[in-house]
Amino acid sequence: MSKVKYYYDSETLSYKKIERKKRRTFKFILLFLLASILFSFLLVFIAGHYIESPKEKALKRELANLEFQYELLNKKMSQAETVLANIEERDNTIYRLYFEANPIPEEQRKAGFGGVNRYKKLEGFDNSELIINSNKRIDKLLKRIVVQSKSLDEIAVLAEEKEKLLASIPAIQPVNNKDLTRMASGYGMRSDPFTKQRKMHWGMDFTAPRGTPIYASGDGVVVRADSNSSGYGNHIRIDHGYGYVSLYAHLYKYNVQKKQKVKRGDLIGFVGSTGRSEAPHLHYEIFKDDQRINPINFYYGSLTPEEFSKLLERASLENQSLD
Ligand SMILES: [Zn+2]
Repeated sequence: MSKVKYYYDSETLSYKKIERKKRRTFKFILLFLLASILFSFLLVFIAGHYIESPKEKALKRELANLEFQYELLNKKMSQAETVLANIEERDNTIYRLYFEANPIPEEQRKAGFGGVNRYKKLEGFDNSELIINSNKRIDKLLKRIVVQSKSLDEIAVLAEEKEKLLASIPAIQPVNNKDLTRMASGYGMRSDPFTKQRKMHWGMDFTAPRGTPIYASGDGVVVRADSNSSGYGNHIRIDHGYGYVSLYAHLYKYNVQKKQKVKRGDLIGFVGSTGRSEAPHLHYEIFKDDQRINPINFYYGSLTPEEFSKLLERASLENQSLD
């Protein structure tokens, strides 16, 4: 039951009923409701767009932090790229060059990834660009590290090989010759001590008293220690590998046997005058790929440049060899 409302009529000085048409009232309510609904929609719309909920605020903060962290990561990646670029540069211009390996071309080091789009899953977000670029960067960095690591493996093998080669090459004088007075005759045309004819002298003669120690001039294996080679008397041949063989002739005594492994500087025998020899001395030869070459070029392991030029001067004197 709706309440009946009255109003005071001042003309008639009495209360009168307020009468309204029912239809108008209904219309009025409908309008009011509609307006209310519209207004609430408007409010929700405004609130949704211009007013943030605490949850949204928290999410926004997290997103901002994430972007900041990405930025930091990218800076760190820049540092890593710089360090790696420096290693790559040294690798190409020093290490690989030194060990006679070809430098790795830039394109090969920095090659990207072809074929399928690896970053498809990361597409379609507001921050896709940031995430994809960071991913691309780190992927390239990883690939470059793999290339560099492989290169260093290669260098390690080459270095080991080079070390072996350097230890094997007959690179010191076979007798103690500190004051360089022990060299009697060099490689080249010399007067034969027996026939006095000029003929090729294939090695170097070091004068020394009988029993003076003789040293292996490089790492290798003794392939001969006998007197079965005409003229050389008691002699030793060491195979150093890489095509190098050294020969020590006219020995008084051996200190090694055939097949024995020797290191540079090992005592292998003693100076004598066996075979075709005029006086106690060591006749020393070097073979490279079965050809005899001038030993003078192989003493760099123990001589200063000054000593070398002094020795060179003495070795080029066209004197008589001791054979
Ligand atoms: Zn000689």
